[in-house]
Amino acid sequence: MTAETTAPNATAGDDAGAVPLLGLEPDDLERRIGSFMEEAGEPSFRTEQVVNWVYDQCALDFDEITTLPTELRAEAGRRFSLTAVEPAYTARSEDGTIKHLWQLEDGEQVESVLIPTEDRLTLCVSSQAGCALGCRFCATGHFGFNRHLSTEEITAQFRNAQRAARREYDREITNVVFMGMGEPMANRDNVFPALTVLNRGFGIGARRITVSTVGLVPGIRALTERPENFGLAVSLHAPNHDLRQEIMRIEKRFPIPELMEAIREYQAETGRRVTFEYLLIDGLNDSEELADQLADLCADLDCFVNLIPFNPIPAVEWEPTPDDRVAAFARRLHRNGVSAAVRQPRGRDIAAACGQLRLEQSGEGEDAE
Ligand code: SF4
Repeated sequence: MTAETTAPNATAGDDAGAVPLLGLEPDDLERRIGSFMEEAGEPSFRTEQVVNWVYDQCALDFDEITTLPTELRAEAGRRFSLTAVEPAYTARSEDGTIKHLWQLEDGEQVESVLIPTEDRLTLCVSSQAGCALGCRFCATGHFGFNRHLSTEEITAQFRNAQRAARREYDREITNVVFMGMGEPMANRDNVFPALTVLNRGFGIGARRITVSTVGLVPGIRALTERPENFGLAVSLHAPNHDLRQEIMRIEKRFPIPELMEAIREYQAETGRRVTFEYLLIDGLNDSEELADQLADLCADLDCFVNLIPFNPIPAVEWEPTPDDRVAAFARRLHRNGVSAAVRQPRGRDIAAACGQLRLEQSGEGEDAE
């Protein structure tokens, strides 16, 4: 593992009243830049130049848009902002994973993770600073909730990570998952426009963008209604009500039968395979009997189960299930006709589970029980 800490620049916030371009739907962005250019008496190709710099070149500020005359750049920089997120910390894992801790303009810090494999480069983004849902296995939940991220703070994570991907791997991001800090379905007002910006602005196909939720049913229904057919992943972690509510408080609000109903509706409407995330915690949710219960839940769905050995956090005493029992759990699912694979958490040496990098940087984990 290698890591570097960068003192974030004084967070020079956006100019008061400047319109954050990364928070606009692409059509709106083009319209506003078009009006600006018209007012400035500039030809229409200037609009295309800016759109290209925002989405393709991933510009950090208007000074980079060197195809524009200097005066025009300065005026555009007063009227519009490109939302600064500064790398407060960067960690590189031996397995190629790169985790960024981004400092936002008000000092909040959120994480994104670049995960390279042979055929894809996935970016995991955060949707909230902290989280109110308090899942017991989660480092982010341990902090509580600070605030929602704005649309532009979500898409700026992508913009900055894309620049890092080009620099570090000489590759482009191919997939985006909303699996970082926060529950995306609890911040739909900002996450749903961000889906549009990533898809139609930055050009990531809807089939390559996945929203991961702990099971907020209204959010799943709203995603189902989107015409693009974005991907859905559901963190299940237990196949029955009693055990799930021990691990995840959300089970009280949206119990498994209601959740499964929403998932079935999503699948019927989109035709897309659903992913279940299932952490394996030693002695808690990893028996073969529970594998059978999980298989029953999957029986009438086209789904895939990701089995993930729990990544320990300081806040709880749980341990990961040993490898032989992980394999036994997977075999049991396979025998029941369920597609499943064991995913070793990437970037273990850089604190890969969501919220862990911030936990380490803040030192808060050291005092946790
Ligand atoms: S797992 Fe997701 S929903 Fe649960 S506490 Fe962590 S960030 Fe929040």
